[in-house]
Amino acid sequence: MNDIKKWIAETNKIVIFTGAGISTESGIPDFRSPGGIWTKMQPIMFQDFLSSEASQIESWKRKFVIDKDMKVAKPNIGHIAISKLYSKNKISYILTQNIDNLHHDSGIPDNKIIELHGNSTYAKCLNCNKRYELSYIKEFLEKKDNNYSTAPKCIECNGIIKSATISFGQPMPIKEMQIAEKSSIECDLFIVIGSSLKVYPAAGLPILAKKNGAKLIIINRETTELDSISDRVLNKEIGVTLDKLFY
Ligand SMILES: [Zn+2]
Repeated sequence: MNDIKKWIAETNKIVIFTGAGISTESGIPDFRSPGGIWTKMQPIMFQDFLSSEASQIESWKRKFVIDKDMKVAKPNIGHIAISKLYSKNKISYILTQNIDNLHHDSGIPDNKIIELHGNSTYAKCLNCNKRYELSYIKEFLEKKDNNYSTAPKCIECNGIIKSATISFGQPMPIKEMQIAEKSSIECDLFIVIGSSLKVYPAAGLPILAKKNGAKLIIINRETTELDSISDRVLNKEIGVTLDKLFY
């Protein structure tokens, strides 16, 4: 802990990389973990979503069930500790695999949060990117004369509307990946929090940082794929550990 605190004190170019582990402490289930939703339910692939209206409707139905957990979630002491470190001008970017909006809710500006897997709290037209609120989608699907028989289409261009998350089979967002790579190359300290680093290409970012001279720290309850190349590994509860490190 003392070494990490010293490294944090020495730089203002820190990149924070977060995964599901930080948000489980806010009550958000880790979809990929054993017993998680993707072990019980076959995910809808992006290509199927594009080509079938039935898949689109099924995907919205599932989303509104899953969202019940998301809506009540609030940032926990881990998110707050990161926000505290940000307010000391220490962090260049927060790269996150999470789609739960909790870094935003902790007070960090939108342009400092790079969402590698998108955001589940709103929807977008896949053609023109027009933003749609989920309340609009729900209302459309549940209208009496519709009742989940047709999927919503963009009012501007008639494109397909999809939750703003990155689905299985969907390409990674280009702009976000570019910022993530650039900030990983330029940082002095890359701190992984609550990710088992199994999902590529996102999990390649700590390797990129390390190759370009950054120190790599991993804070996760379980061991990860990159423990052997990291400078320090803390296998501890996340919230309380960040609370001690970042204040
Ligand atoms: Zn559109």
